[in-house]
Amino acid sequence: MLLNHTTSKVVERKALTVNPAKTCQPIGAMYASLGVHGCLPHSHGSQGCCSYHRSTLTRHYKEPVMAATSSFTEGSSVFGGQANLLQAVTNIFSVYEPDVIAVHSTCLSETIGDDLGQIVSKALADGKIPEGKHVIQASTPSYVGSHVTGFANMLEAFVKYFAQKTDQLKNQINILSGWVEPSDMRELKRILKLMKIKNVLLPDTSDVLDTPMTGKFEMYPKGGTTVPEIVSMGDSLHSIGLGEWATEKAAINLDNKCKVKFTIEDLPIGLQATDRFIHTLSKIGSVSVPVSINDERGRLVDVITDMHQYFYGKRVALWGDPDQLIPLAEFLIDLDMKPVYIVSGTPGKNFNKRMEKILESVPEAKYKNGANADMLLMHQWIKENPVDLLIGNTYGKYISRDENIPFVRMGFPIVDRIGHSYFSTLGYVGGLRILEKILSVLMDKKDATCPEESFELVM
Ligand code: SF4
Repeated sequence: MLLNHTTSKVVERKALTVNPAKTCQPIGAMYASLGVHGCLPHSHGSQGCCSYHRSTLTRHYKEPVMAATSSFTEGSSVFGGQANLLQAVTNIFSVYEPDVIAVHSTCLSETIGDDLGQIVSKALADGKIPEGKHVIQASTPSYVGSHVTGFANMLEAFVKYFAQKTDQLKNQINILSGWVEPSDMRELKRILKLMKIKNVLLPDTSDVLDTPMTGKFEMYPKGGTTVPEIVSMGDSLHSIGLGEWATEKAAINLDNKCKVKFTIEDLPIGLQATDRFIHTLSKIGSVSVPVSINDERGRLVDVITDMHQYFYGKRVALWGDPDQLIPLAEFLIDLDMKPVYIVSGTPGKNFNKRMEKILESVPEAKYKNGANADMLLMHQWIKENPVDLLIGNTYGKYISRDENIPFVRMGFPIVDRIGHSYFSTLGYVGGLRILEKILSVLMDKKDATCPEESFELVM
């Protein structure tokens, strides 16, 4: 379908994708790798791919993102990139001294059929990997899946390579954090500390992509899950994967390899998803929920109740990653809002099933995921029947401007605002942040359209 801008009518569209609601697989692989301490991501492909991945992450996190590339030329594109990667491994260990090189493929290296596993084995056999150092690899062809698929593939590669089962069971649980912000990972650790649950969080980009200014450049900032911690994940009591799309593969791999049973939960966004997460933590960790967490929940419920009249019946359009969209849509329903349009460029068969259930009370809702679920489709739906609020990544700003609709930025990438790296949207406290953001833009719109009305929020 294409949009006829003069009539706002939808025209049939079969093959073309315009402004996809996703980015490319290696960006996710790179982000997951940055959450491991002392790890240098390596892009096996052309310099252009690596530059794009690094700059997208830098624009989102406002931090330098270190990564290496195999720097394919015309020759490597024809004859294969093995020589480039072998040379790169030698150079990287001698110049940049990482503990781990995490290699991911690109469209080009996948298309010519480079076998990363074989090349890494050759690097090992040729003595190019120093004692105590590691090279791991994940296949991330960007013509399938999305940045979330790349994240999931690299996360799986880390546990596949490192996790070990010994006969010493550890009193800890694994938290596979899913694709969330450094601030969210910090919030997860705070909640786990409050609940007194020993854990390994993988990946962990806090103190990597939200580092303080010290005046000194650190190639490998102090944050990130350490290699010994990942090794120990094979001896943990249980794994909790946060977000099916980003973490299920790694959780299954840990179960198959080390017999660590797992539970997949939604990302704790909003009230119900956080309730389920806290309940699962309490059950698996055999601990009771502290009063302080109950109080946080109470404050969130209080604001929902106090501000209900501003949320009630508002039509909302969302786009982004399934792991975020599912609990977010559920949260909006809890607020008595109406998530009417939802698109995600990330494929996955459970998306429709989950949305169907969550959106039972919104019969007019339309949702779609996969390659054809793009921002043009979202704009078409909005043209046909407008909404009161947009929630998604930066790429919705054009719809917001064109249609004059309030816009809350959430998801990846956000290149034109800050805050996401520092203020979590997970848990009950994160729920308050989401409410604050929604109320702020709704009130701004109200102030602009009805200046004679009081700006005071009334109860
Ligand atoms: S060629 Fe493929 S891997 Fe490289 S930037 Fe484009 S989509 Fe990503």
